[in-house]
Amino acid sequence: MNEYHENIAFIDLKAQLQPIRNDIDNAISRVLDHGQFIMGPEVKEFEKQLVQFTQVKHAVTCANGTDAITLALMALDIQHGEVVFVPSFTYVASAEAVALIGAVPYFVDVDPESFNICPNSLEMAIKEASKCGLVGKAIIAVELFGNPCAYAALGPIASSNGLKIIVDAAQSFGATYAGESTAMQGDIVTTSFFPAKPLGCYGDGGALFTNSDQLHDRLNSLRLHGKGEYKYDNIRVGMNSRLDTVQAAILIEKLRIFPTELSSRRSIAKKYTEALAGRLITPQISVGSSSSWAQYTVKCNQREKFRSELSASGIPTVVYYPLALTQQEGYKHFPKVSGGTLNAEKLSNEVLSLPMHPNLNVKELAKKILNVLENI
Ligand SMILES: *Cc1c(COP(=O)(O)O)cnc(C)c1O
Repeated sequence: MNEYHENIAFIDLKAQLQPIRNDIDNAISRVLDHGQFIMGPEVKEFEKQLVQFTQVKHAVTCANGTDAITLALMALDIQHGEVVFVPSFTYVASAEAVALIGAVPYFVDVDPESFNICPNSLEMAIKEASKCGLVGKAIIAVELFGNPCAYAALGPIASSNGLKIIVDAAQSFGATYAGESTAMQGDIVTTSFFPAKPLGCYGDGGALFTNSDQLHDRLNSLRLHGKGEYKYDNIRVGMNSRLDTVQAAILIEKLRIFPTELSSRRSIAKKYTEALAGRLITPQISVGSSSSWAQYTVKCNQREKFRSELSASGIPTVVYYPLALTQQEGYKHFPKVSGGTLNAEKLSNEVLSLPMHPNLNVKELAKKILNVLENI
């Protein structure tokens, strides 16, 4: 027990690995034996399994979640100077990919409850951008901490303004909206297999999902240097962005235990909320949705004090994210909705992510957290 108290992990990849260690070792060995390290059979097999898991028509793997967003923007033919609407409260990659292709990330405020892009702020930003003569092309709908976006509101806004939706599901693989995988939402959905994400590999990895045959063909070409009929036929400017065969082999093993892990995360989140609601502001999941619980993120005042008391009791926490993107040196020159992204900035002072992983002893931990709260 004491040992457990002293070693609470924020994310426990070691505990996760232990029961599947042999399967992982064997999977890596098989790749070493066949030697097809680039686009080997495991890559195709994993893509097939992703399709089965999400029920989306096409899955295309790539090198990481940031590349996945870049590839999505390229597949949608977003041009230099065109606008992509991005929530201000997210990991930098959601905006970085836009800026990197020469398009303009236009920052939109988020909803203070869901932490996701706010439909009202989005509508305002769309009007303002067009008044300035900017051409809006797409929305990046980030499912922050695993929580699906308000698609019933976003869909009509996108279609009435001629905007495509890219869902940044880097944190939300496994989440559902209206009973379906959120990989079904938007024109293209992107995800990441970075080790700390809900489905993580042991290195970098990413994937894209689409129901469109045409976008699937483009994505497949774009990730392979813009290839056409064969490898040395290059019909467009693309990228080198492939998932390693070794990582695909690892992901096949980890996808096997993923459904069980997902239900553990959901039950842990439920127990956290039962214990902490009323004492802290616990996460709000949109109606009709289920989160993948990449993070369990509460809102609190006196965050720094609470955080250091938790740390003194051996409870690790992380602030995702300490700054809104509109406050970041590298991003504050990009346009934003008039009045600023105040909810995002406020959240950056209030949010605190608690330990979350499928092997967490949440009952013990919640007791400890309540104890800390009582003595603050
Ligand atoms: C992790 C993350 C990414 C980037 O994924 P990488 O695989 O690290 O490149 C993009 N968007 C969000 C919201 C993320 O959390």
